Amino acid sequence: MSNSKGNQYADEVDILHVGAGIMSATLASMLQELEPSWSQMIFERLEGPAEESSYPFNNAGTGHSALCELNYTPEKNGKIDVSKAMSINEKFQLSRQYWSYLVDNGKLKDPRAFINPVPHVSFAQGEDQIQYLKKRYDALSSNHMFPEMKFTEDQGEFSEKLPLMAKGRDFDEEPVAISWTDVGTDINYGSLTNQYLDAAKANGVVIRYGREVTNLKRDGNFWKVTVKNLHTGDKQVVRARFVFVGAGGYALDLLKKAGVPEVHGYAGFPISGMWLKSTNQELVQQHQAKVYGKAKVGAPPMSVPHLDLRVVDGEESLLFGPYGGWSPKFLKQGSYLDLFKSISFDNIPSYLGVAATNFDLVKYLVQEVFRDFDGKMDMLHEYYPEADGSDWDVVVAGQRVQVIKPAAFPRFGTLEFGTALVNDQNGTIAGVLGASPGASITPAAMIELLERCFGEHMIDWSDKLHEMFPTYGKSLKRDKEAYEKQWEWTQKSLQLDEA
Ligand SMILES: Cc1cc2nc3c(=O)[nH]c(=O)nc-3n(C[C@H](O)[C@H](O)[C@H](O)COP(=O)(O)OP(=O)(O)OC[C@H]3O[C@@H](n4cnc5c(N)ncnc54)[C@H](O)[C@@H]3O)c2cc1C
Repeated sequence: MSNSKGNQYADEVDILHVGAGIMSATLASMLQELEPSWSQMIFERLEGPAEESSYPFNNAGTGHSALCELNYTPEKNGKIDVSKAMSINEKFQLSRQYWSYLVDNGKLKDPRAFINPVPHVSFAQGEDQIQYLKKRYDALSSNHMFPEMKFTEDQGEFSEKLPLMAKGRDFDEEPVAISWTDVGTDINYGSLTNQYLDAAKANGVVIRYGREVTNLKRDGNFWKVTVKNLHTGDKQVVRARFVFVGAGGYALDLLKKAGVPEVHGYAGFPISGMWLKSTNQELVQQHQAKVYGKAKVGAPPMSVPHLDLRVVDGEESLLFGPYGGWSPKFLKQGSYLDLFKSISFDNIPSYLGVAATNFDLVKYLVQEVFRDFDGKMDMLHEYYPEADGSDWDVVVAGQRVQVIKPAAFPRFGTLEFGTALVNDQNGTIAGVLGASPGASITPAAMIELLERCFGEHMIDWSDKLHEMFPTYGKSLKRDKEAYEKQWEWTQKSLQLDEA
């Protein structure tokens, strides 16, 4: 049907998703399991799914479960704070459970296309870092959620585990240590998104590509969502009972456009990234792990350098980085005007506050912007001393938009580095902001969304939720038996022992 301006009206939907990345795909899948009769539509501005941050080489593909990432275990007054690591690990178990449930039901067809076992390693350079790593190992290794963790300062063991990183290393000049676990994973979030969406489509979810959501307005019990066909320029207005803004870097601006008061005063700070990538199989064979080090002073936590084995579409490669950078775009395929367009009276104090209080970050970004290829190789040499530039190519990573939360005067706004779920008070619209630990914990983030926005259904959904997430509501860090039972099941379903 058409309105007087020639704009096309679609009918109503129960759930409308903006964007076809891992977040929307996960929520669409979960809602389909819980309420198969609800109608759902997904609008994506690009020509296919998972082409922004969820694309395999736009992110690092780490299954973040705090096995190796040192920024999840800060040292406070000489003690390691493991609370964040425990929480992320528990959330990652929910991801494993949901994927296993879908594999068992034939909805995710090919687990090895999206998840592969890759050891997770933490790397310490110099005495201070070694002491920290040892304390971290002592704090985590006794907990059942961090099984089979090992720690070594021994040169021989280091060389056996990480031959590429040992080559040409002067162990006498700088002592090193590693902690190691074989139960880490590499994840192709692009393949996972595709598999989720294939199943969703087969069960009635409508997905439209080349369609950009340009406006959202509240209209009685509905959201009136304006969608532009980027091929023809036509506009369509869809009425939706619930909107999920899974628009990645564009989520904050869309939530603001919708007038969601919960994001008043928020601002977005874009940080771009780059990797060095090698497909030289001789090198790949000598580095079968993901190795995370410590962040440089001033570097945002997600810029911690790591040398990763990646398994994408059956091919192994190495990725090193990310190198920080700066671009005013909010999406990799966004516009150079994104940042300027997002500045408004309500968020100017947030921007000024961050500029005034994050000198180290600004300095770090300026240094990174001017780091040329040789400078990038210098950083890689700290991990792989004999790295040769001819084996490595620069690859542009996905764009991150860190959230700046406003604060009441005279305090400044603060830059947030985690993943934050935002929804309106009535639970009619929600979105995900930020990027870390990101894709790894999407099912847990979507459970939180369901609890916040669909609270009245939770009792009815309880049995199904326990089928999808057998340990839903349990504390895995306390319940060793429940942890081990779900571990055994998910290892088998996801074929992680067969690799
Ligand atoms: C450099 C880097 C490394 C990372 N490493 C990891 C990692 O190792 N492990 C991990 O778990 N996570 C990692 N992440 C985070 C992870 O990639 C993201 O959290 C996740 O991909 C976000 O998914 P999404 O669906 O929200 O966004 P996206 O995948 O970006 O999808 C958003 C989609 O919305 C579309 N869109 C935007 N606006 C509109 C509109 N108005 N109308 C229609 N469509 C729209 C976009 O085109 C895009 O396709 C990393 C991120 C980056 C940038």
